[in-house]
Amino acid sequence: MPELPHVQVFKEYADATSLHKRIEDVRVQDDRPLDGVSIPRLKKTLRGRTLTSSRRHGKWLFLATDGDPVLALHFGMSGQLVHTTDAKAPDGTVFSLRFVDGSTLAMVMPRMLGKVALTEDVEAFLEEREIGPDALDVEEERFVRRVRTRSGMVKTALMDQGVLAGLGNEMVDETLFMTGLHPRTKVDDLSDKEIVAIRRAAKEATERIVEARARREGLPESMLLRHRGEKDAKCPRCKVPFDRIKVGGRTTYVCPEHQGAS
Ligand SMILES: [Zn+2]
Repeated sequence: MPELPHVQVFKEYADATSLHKRIEDVRVQDDRPLDGVSIPRLKKTLRGRTLTSSRRHGKWLFLATDGDPVLALHFGMSGQLVHTTDAKAPDGTVFSLRFVDGSTLAMVMPRMLGKVALTEDVEAFLEEREIGPDALDVEEERFVRRVRTRSGMVKTALMDQGVLAGLGNEMVDETLFMTGLHPRTKVDDLSDKEIVAIRRAAKEATERIVEARARREGLPESMLLRHRGEKDAKCPRCKVPFDRIKVGGRTTYVCPEHQGAS
């Protein structure tokens, strides 16, 4: 499921394939992800414009053009970007930009729940949706302060997009695995040092995932994400099977050895 590192990969991919290209046509293959914008407005806004820059915030990707407003994309549970020179858009495309060079940038979403929106002001857009600071852009001290705005379990706090944007179920499990903390640990029981360690782990995990271009096979053996979803997945450090528990209703991987008891 696309979380901060995956959206970072999409950003870099869009930069490499589509920046500085002029949009010849805008196609909406499925209007369900359209969020507060009509097909005619989307087309009118983007047609003839050139993509000039991109920005990621949390799990959102913003694509700016040489006009207003900015295109905002959210990839939901399974979305991704595909750039192609084929005349036909890939299967599962919900929205695509066709450039004057004949290539297409397609938002492919086999399962819905993603979003396509327009905004005049990215900061106001984030505020309206109560999206907190980006988990990686935020400085250390503010990261600690944001986590401390919640008093429940650390996993729930980290997954709350209003606290910090970008971390989802899998990234939170990974960072807690790396720091040796149990997901059910209460925020109040964490030291500032431990919260700082979580931020460093999130940064490191993101770097590894971006390096691997978000492919599981490209991740180091030492990461939980490399093993997540495998049958009988074992902790690469302790060689014991992971416990699979529910935290906040989400399947959570935890090593019974090095992540201790809650
Ligand atoms: Zn372990």
